Amino acid sequence: MIPLQLGRMSPAETERMLAFDREHIWHPYAPMPATLPAQPVVSARGVRLTLADGTELIDGMSSWWAAIHGYGHPKLDAAVTGQLGKMAHVMFGGLTHPPAVRLAERLVDITPGPLTKVFFADSGSVAVEVAIKMTLQYWRSQGRPERHRLLTVRGGYHGDTFGDMAVCDPVNGMHHIFSDVLARHVFAPEPPLGYSAAPDQAYLDELAAVAKAHAHELAGIIVEPIVQGAGGMRFYAPEYLRALREIADEHGLLLVLDEIATGFGRTGELWGCDHAEVVPDIMCLGKALTGGYMTMAATLCTDEVAHVITAGEAGALMHGPTFMANPLAAAVASASIDLLLSRDWRTEVDTIEAILTTGLDGAADLPGVADVRVLGAIGVIETREPVDVPAVQEIAMAHGVWLRPFGRLVYAMPPYVCTEDDVSHIADAMWAIAESL
Ligand SMILES: *Cc1c(COP(=O)(O)O)cnc(C)c1O
Repeated sequence: MIPLQLGRMSPAETERMLAFDREHIWHPYAPMPATLPAQPVVSARGVRLTLADGTELIDGMSSWWAAIHGYGHPKLDAAVTGQLGKMAHVMFGGLTHPPAVRLAERLVDITPGPLTKVFFADSGSVAVEVAIKMTLQYWRSQGRPERHRLLTVRGGYHGDTFGDMAVCDPVNGMHHIFSDVLARHVFAPEPPLGYSAAPDQAYLDELAAVAKAHAHELAGIIVEPIVQGAGGMRFYAPEYLRALREIADEHGLLLVLDEIATGFGRTGELWGCDHAEVVPDIMCLGKALTGGYMTMAATLCTDEVAHVITAGEAGALMHGPTFMANPLAAAVASASIDLLLSRDWRTEVDTIEAILTTGLDGAADLPGVADVRVLGAIGVIETREPVDVPAVQEIAMAHGVWLRPFGRLVYAMPPYVCTEDDVSHIADAMWAIAESL
């Protein structure tokens, strides 16, 4: 038996656990059995992960954008345990409950005004599936099934399920493995790099031309606003998002914004779309929604989208997960939102941005580095060659930091509650990695 108490494990126990893990448990994007080691985490508090041997690491990844308040926050713990005393879960077909209603009220309140209808999904990938389904059903309801394709840009990431993969970047999104079974959508080139870059008129013209050529078969546009996450950690100028809103309006398309990574302040604004003052027709939320405590996501839409779908032949939105609106997740999500809004999160994110900017200054001149970019609480070093993941992680861990690079990207998105010193450690680790290349 593997001991479940907090704290250290003996080397023998740790080795047995890791051996079973290696042979029997799939990890994200990993072979089976595993070829690279996984680090054994036994507990997490504040912004630190504790490994089985007692080593503490500052989590530079916020558990993939999610743990914005760090780990074991008393208010979030209390929200979960308080709800647990009432009920852990109940089906959402024909039933409702206070945690779901409270969370939906908050989401309607804090997202752009026209987004008033909330669908609770159980993961980000499902929230995007639901957004795609809403977009297609919107046209089917109007007797226009030929409007069945989506316009997107290269470099995007929207999740791992089949509907989502079809709008992910064709190269990073593994279209080549599944090309015969993925829906065929319309791809414009990736937006030019740089949040502050002057808009490129040739690119804007190309976007408009692609949309015009396919308008008769397009249902909507789907993109990540301002920051493309797992598809390449690329930042683009708000002008391009405004252009996509205009293109959507011109051709009657729905604009779907996937805010799963960008939402809840990560980019320096509460929503990525706030940078451009653009309002989508459909918005996907996930990752930081529950403060990293539990899996939950949401798809919001406008009154009009809901009305048209409901007026159609199906008479309903055809989706309904078993764990829809899970009360534990909903309770902790409301607590996480309250906590975020009660803190000076803008200053926290701005401070992280400033420290990462200073800490990575000059790294772009190192021979192994292609680009360095920082926006909000996101710092990215793009390398010239794909990184040796174990070697890079060893350097980060020697600096007391947890980072998880992929491809040619070494990046951090620290919890907002990091101290200045914590963020400096993260920047130092990234700098050391860049220097080692
Ligand atoms: C992570 C992510 C998803 C998928 O969310 P999961 O919870 O991993 O299914 C979708 N879109 C974006 C932009 C993401 O960053």
